[in-house]
Amino acid sequence: MTAAQTSIILAVKKAENGVDYSSRYGAICPWCGRRTMIYKTMPWYNNTRIRYHRCTHLKCILMTMSKTIKSVEIDQSQ
Ligand SMILES: [Zn+2]
Repeated sequence: MTAAQTSIILAVKKAENGVDYSSRYGAICPWCGRRTMIYKTMPWYNNTRIRYHRCTHLKCILMTMSKTIKSVEIDQSQ
């Protein structure tokens, strides 16, 4: 496997496992590093909220794969 293939797999894994959600920047695409578009926001569960995003950058591999990017927000206020 080439290094490029390995890094694609890592980015896909990150997208599936969940990236950090920032209230300021939202979720950053694990492949291209750009901000992503939210298409689904789940309700709070305990102090955690899951969102689903898509990258909208046309040349991004996750975008061309129509890969869903999951994000996890954790409420630190409690
Ligand atoms: Zn991207």
